[in-house]
Amino acid sequence: MSKQETYNIPYIGLKREVHTFNYQLDGKFFKKDEYSLIQDGKVDVKLIFDKSNTPYILDFDIRGIIQTNCDRCTTAIDIPIQGNYKVYVKFDQNAEDIEDEDMEILFLHPENPVIDIETYLYDFPLLSIPYSKVCEDVGLTCDPEFLKYIQRENEEKLKETENIPDPRWAELNKLKDLK
Ligand SMILES: [Zn+2]
Repeated sequence: MSKQETYNIPYIGLKREVHTFNYQLDGKFFKKDEYSLIQDGKVDVKLIFDKSNTPYILDFDIRGIIQTNCDRCTTAIDIPIQGNYKVYVKFDQNAEDIEDEDMEILFLHPENPVIDIETYLYDFPLLSIPYSKVCEDVGLTCDPEFLKYIQRENEEKLKETENIPDPRWAELNKLKDLK
């Protein structure tokens, strides 16, 4: 099934009432972006589309488990995510030109027959990832070898910065050498 068929809501043909859609997202979905913070997972999205009033409302309920990396030791860990996000659909003749910085509002051209929600299905699980995500959060212990390695790296970096002379002095020294 192509992207268009899967994640588009053909709202025009729907009755003026509340509709529910369910999506199951897996690793394949998130890995479409190779730099994705989510490497694997199973996320259920319940989308309640309220067409009974204007603006229409898209209400996303996100629940699932995703695989991402520990902030401290980079081990792959499974963490639960949960979130709820609302998007208001507004119609505008110039929808294409409107920079939608605000994720809460979706500007749609009145002649566009579908609402494409794929970006939301991708972004909302990302936004639901807890701010801190370390092994301890899911009852694991960070990889001690990796922590040692990181510590060594940091110490070396510190040494390097200590040895770098102040660039202003370096310039002055250059002038001195010229004389
Ligand atoms: Zn860890």
